[in-house]
Amino acid sequence: MKIGVLALQGAFAEHAKTLSELGAEIVEIRRKTQFTDALDGLVLPGGESTVQGKLLREEGLFAPVKQAIGAGMPVFGTCAGMILLAKRIEESETVHLGTMDIAVRRNAYGRQLASFRTRLLVEGVGEYPAVFIRAPYATELLSSAARPLAVHEGKIVAVRQANMLAAAFHPELTSDPRIHAYFLDML
Ligand code: GLN
Repeated sequence: MKIGVLALQGAFAEHAKTLSELGAEIVEIRRKTQFTDALDGLVLPGGESTVQGKLLREEGLFAPVKQAIGAGMPVFGTCAGMILLAKRIEESETVHLGTMDIAVRRNAYGRQLASFRTRLLVEGVGEYPAVFIRAPYATELLSSAARPLAVHEGKIVAVRQANMLAAAFHPELTSDPRIHAYFLDML
C-alpha cells in the first residue's frame, strides 16, 4: 500500500518512518503533482496548522486533498492535522479542510501544560503512551458520524469518522506503532 505523508511542515519524517516499518510505501507530498489517486491513504502530521493550511493553499494542494478525503480516501491527522480536518476551530473564523464533524480548540491545554505524556485508553488499540505537544482537543462532535476513540480527563483526544482518523497527540513520536497499524487497517 502506498501512503502519502503531507510533508510541507512539521513531524512528517517520523510518520513516514513508522509507516514504512509497518510495510507501507511512502510518498512525501510537497507539490500538487505528487498527490494522485494512486495513493491508498494520506497522513496529515503535527506541526503548525496555520502554516500548513497556508502552504496547502499556496501549493494548490488544498482542493485536491479536500476532494479526495470527501470521496473516501483514508486520512489520518495528528495534532495540527486534526485541526486541518476540523469543521470548526473555536474562537476562530478559519476553517481548513473542514471534512470532519468535529470542533477543536487549539493549544487547548494552555501554557502550563503545553506538553505532557500520559497513558490513554484508545478504542480498538488499548492502552497507549500518548505524547501531547501544544495539543488541541475536540470540544464537540458535530454529528453522530464522529465517534470518540479516546478521552483524556473528560476531553476527546481521538476521533474516528468513516474514512477519517484524528488524534490530538503524536503517535509518530513514540515507538509504539499500534495507532498507525489501526490506520492501515482502515485502508
Ligand atoms: N499548536 C499547533 C497548532 O495549533 C499544533 C501543535 C502540534 O501539532 N504539535 O497547529
